[in-house]
Amino acid sequence: MYKGIECKIYPNQQQADIIQMTFGHTRFIWNQMLGMLNERYQNNKALKMLSYCTLSSLIPQLKREHTWLKDVDSVAIQCSVKTLSETFERFFKGFCRYPKFKSRKQHQQSYLSTIRGQNIRLNYNQRYIKLPKLGWVKCKPSVQHIENERIQSVTVKQRPSGKYTISVLVTSENQALTKTGKSVGIDLGVSDFAITSDGHKYPSQKLHLKYQRQLHYWEKRMARRRLKAKAAGIDLKDAKNYQKSRQHVARIHEKITNTRKNDIHKITTDLVENYDDIVIEDLKTSNMLKNHKLARSIASQSWHLFKTILTYKCRIYGKQLRCVNPYKTSQYCSNCGYDSGKKALAIRHWTCPSCHTNHDRDINAAQNIRNIGLEQALVK
Ligand SMILES: [Zn+2]
Repeated sequence: MYKGIECKIYPNQQQADIIQMTFGHTRFIWNQMLGMLNERYQNNKALKMLSYCTLSSLIPQLKREHTWLKDVDSVAIQCSVKTLSETFERFFKGFCRYPKFKSRKQHQQSYLSTIRGQNIRLNYNQRYIKLPKLGWVKCKPSVQHIENERIQSVTVKQRPSGKYTISVLVTSENQALTKTGKSVGIDLGVSDFAITSDGHKYPSQKLHLKYQRQLHYWEKRMARRRLKAKAAGIDLKDAKNYQKSRQHVARIHEKITNTRKNDIHKITTDLVENYDDIVIEDLKTSNMLKNHKLARSIASQSWHLFKTILTYKCRIYGKQLRCVNPYKTSQYCSNCGYDSGKKALAIRHWTCPSCHTNHDRDINAAQNIRNIGLEQALVK
């Protein structure tokens, strides 16, 4: 099994220049190869797709034509070709769209490089990472310790905010956690992010409200500077003031995303550590598209991220995750099963007319979800 570890890096000017150059050169190779394949397909549509071996054998030829290609990490160049050939394979299987040309105007740039001997490794205190052609780069891993022997590959990225990160792919074993013998149902909401059947509520931070004013301020400036640059006939790529404000906006968005991701990681870790059986409601993408309310659409984005992270954590730590249909879970009484009909969203507490239990709306729903999940477990 593989695990990706995010890691901030702080290259110096010289290293940043090499990174930028590698972005450019790997993109060049990608576009050259893609262009060639497109032409080949246009000329004879019956021809079979070239394999990675054939494609990579063309690299030396290209390097002779464009000697500057030798200035950057050669593994990164190979990886670019490899990714292209894999993308084509996926396309023919119907998993993805036809590969596109890459542009230098994309705000997120990246390149991949795989391990060859000891070319990628961390120093003893994990403050520096050795990367091909770059040497030792200052870094800050998001986890305590990465074992050098486990490193498989590294992707160097530049975020839209201009910051550099790498994600390190490492092999990981199944790290089954001790069994607790407990099960839990989880109801996902807007004002509280997650509510467990035990009555614990994980609050959701109103990040878009918190950063609303800042974001609005910089978005306004960005729009004004774009117009100004256009009026002066400057290409947006060279418009320094516009780029500055664009990076400000990107930084705020990144801040929001990172905080949200961090919260979700905390909640999911908490859950897999404390419960063996976790039951959540099925999330439907159609529900997400129907909702035009901002808070709700943001919440549903987080729910999907929550589900993705919880799924892989359950797999790694040997826990059971079930998804159940949330139909009528907010209507039934979790104690006696009486259906008291639809309730307005404003009603947070209600008393069951049959068994007179006083319910918190969300906790009751979470308990219902748990019960459905446990019933399913018995059937299987
Ligand atoms: Zn009842």
